[in-house]
Amino acid sequence: MAKSKFNKKTIEDINVKGKRVLLRCDLNVPINDGKISDDQRIIASVPTIKYLATHGARVVICSHLGKPEKRQDIAPVCKALSKACKLPIKFIGSDRVVDDKVVKEVNALKDGQVAMLQNTRWRDEESKNEDSFSKELASLADVFVNDAFGTCHRAHSSTYGVSKFVPVSVGGYLIKAELDKLCNYIDNPKRPFVTILGGSKIADKLKVIDNALDRSDVVIIGGGMSYTFLKGFGYETGKSLVDESKIEYCMQMVEKAKKLGKELILPVDCVAADHFPQPLTDPTIETKTFDLHHLDKNYGSYDAGPETIKNMLKYMVKAKTILWNGPVGLFENQKFAIGTYCIAKEMSLLKDTVTIVGGGDSASAVNQFKLADKMTHVSTGGGATLEFLKGEPLPGIECLTDK
Ligand code: AMP
Repeated sequence: MAKSKFNKKTIEDINVKGKRVLLRCDLNVPINDGKISDDQRIIASVPTIKYLATHGARVVICSHLGKPEKRQDIAPVCKALSKACKLPIKFIGSDRVVDDKVVKEVNALKDGQVAMLQNTRWRDEESKNEDSFSKELASLADVFVNDAFGTCHRAHSSTYGVSKFVPVSVGGYLIKAELDKLCNYIDNPKRPFVTILGGSKIADKLKVIDNALDRSDVVIIGGGMSYTFLKGFGYETGKSLVDESKIEYCMQMVEKAKKLGKELILPVDCVAADHFPQPLTDPTIETKTFDLHHLDKNYGSYDAGPETIKNMLKYMVKAKTILWNGPVGLFENQKFAIGTYCIAKEMSLLKDTVTIVGGGDSASAVNQFKLADKMTHVSTGGGATLEFLKGEPLPGIECLTDK
């Protein structure tokens, strides 16, 4: 199970004045046609940067951006970050990320000045957590601050390895806020506690389902994941997503729910189509609603049907805590976004309920629907939040100095 308290040192527990601080942010933002299309991660990084700068640290920011093979230049992100922080941030981009020139520029920083390195994934050693690169990064720092919640589940040089070669490693505000909230709301929930799980890849979420059954009173399974359960019950699933290798596990979860006296809720109807939309957003695709006892085998189910939505809402209105991870339909296509929208909208309306959106696609959906500010907490981490929900340790947190 996840720890119920965040017990690592943070930037407020140390003196940063005059210190060279290597700050790992998660600035892995989507860039389309040269434009940053979602700046949530940039905005979320601002408080720690401002704190460090105003407290006289010499701040060196680093982050990865995109896949290693794409070698994306992080300079445009530096520019956007500088604007968001209302602070000059000097870009000291080098092909090698760290080299003699970069070391010199960092050592020339004055108290309160901020600089930023090139995309850490320009170095192959980064993802392999090789000591050589970790040491180079450490040579820039008296203190390591990790504020990259979104990448805490990865043990890379800049999120984990570097901490071995720096005297003090602490968490930033984003990490503290994320963990305080996740620990507090999820490990000590107000009840009834309803968890809604969706998405496509059931294999990624086996432990999340298991953990959710331990913690919650009601677990609602939706989206592509639910058809592996339904197949296990002998339903016709047509062209819907089914992971045959996980049917047995799903049936074990059904047994577990029974044993614990928990409710495990599955869809009863769906919005389907006779083919997977191509392109994904195809607005012309024809849809048909089916009772899941009678799904046509030539159809695949891509959204929750009206009865399923009604049923979900019935449990949601009684909840005092709702945790939601994973869309319950192909929400990228407006024809299959209704189920996901209804969950987001209902969560946004429940005033006395703690509402937590567990990162990744559900966070994108809530942002797309412009409902993020109506939630108690929208996690900024995709994979990291998922690991937290599985109860797995997060290397980027484990490596920080204990309080
Ligand atoms: P995951 O990465 O496992 O969290 O899955 C997120 C993806 O699941 C989103 O891109 C959704 O479009 C997709 N998804 C949700 N429901 C379904 C469904 N019924 N069939 C196929 N994909 C789905």
